[in-house]
Amino acid sequence: MAYQPGPSHHLQTGYFNKTLQQWQSSNTSIGTENLMLPIFVVDSPNAVETISTMPGVYRYGVNKVVEFLEPVVANGLKSILLFPVLKNLPKDEVGSVADSSDNPAIQVIPLIRKQFPSLTIACDVCLCGYTSHGHCAIFNSDGSINYEKTLARLTAISKAFSEAGAHIIAPSDMMDNRIHAIKQGLLSLKKEAPTSLLSYSAKFCSAFYGPFREAAGSAPSFGDRSCYQLPCGSKGLAIRAAARDVSQGADFIMVKPGLAYLDIISELKSRHPEYPMFVYQVSGEYAMLAFAAQAGALDLRRALTETLTSFRRAGADVIISYYTPQVLGWLREEAEEKSKV
Ligand SMILES: [Zn+2]
Repeated sequence: MAYQPGPSHHLQTGYFNKTLQQWQSSNTSIGTENLMLPIFVVDSPNAVETISTMPGVYRYGVNKVVEFLEPVVANGLKSILLFPVLKNLPKDEVGSVADSSDNPAIQVIPLIRKQFPSLTIACDVCLCGYTSHGHCAIFNSDGSINYEKTLARLTAISKAFSEAGAHIIAPSDMMDNRIHAIKQGLLSLKKEAPTSLLSYSAKFCSAFYGPFREAAGSAPSFGDRSCYQLPCGSKGLAIRAAARDVSQGADFIMVKPGLAYLDIISELKSRHPEYPMFVYQVSGEYAMLAFAAQAGALDLRRALTETLTSFRRAGADVIISYYTPQVLGWLREEAEEKSKV
């Protein structure tokens, strides 16, 4: 007898027009609040520098950040993530510049707050951009990680960023128990405004960080980061790391990179539905789309929209993306189109 499909086997009856398609795509819409823009702030005050592996992304000096942000904020930008880049300032074993007033991030935060009082400012916290060895930790003489010294430095840097006016501290180093240490440090500050803690909970050791290391000048001078960043096959460590960070006081958790780790986003969101989930669409993911689009291999807007939708579908509440300015521009165009109808 020929196979007879049942009534519930007809899927296309459920998405034949735009409204029905939207009903089928709940929680995957992208609004301005779902996007966070990473910005590289370099220690040459008037610099605007191209990054060869990230066409369309620039490093800005302290005096150029506000100017760059003006049109993006006008298009609805809600939040940024600052990455200081040291090219001239000295690097040493312990990253001394990080919590000093020379740090371009510490210098730029008050300027941004003054100009854009409703913009939420997150600051990346790590040591690799400030240390002479380019690693995210301080080492003992035998080459092992000195956790006590590392956590003390990360806490001091976090406090300095908070005191400069950052709303969110985002530690990306992946050292064990840094969320506990930083949380205690932030709570000890004599400051009325609270500071949030966004943990890079599941940061995997990834080839997709390649362009970032050029952008931020943070490549390690020896070895790699595989003893503190997560091995790419390990879902178990990601689950344990997120659970630990939540228990130690993280306000938000993150998965990084995005596209190759959608299952991790989904898993962590289902385990911690009460915590906003961030995903970082990293430099290599940006470069993949940018160079493919440049070569005419795909339509950037469609491929990017599909990618961002996949992050939302997997469970991400906030997407950290270098494409944020373009996406905000598209959202504005769409809103203007709608208002004409
Ligand atoms: Zn680092």
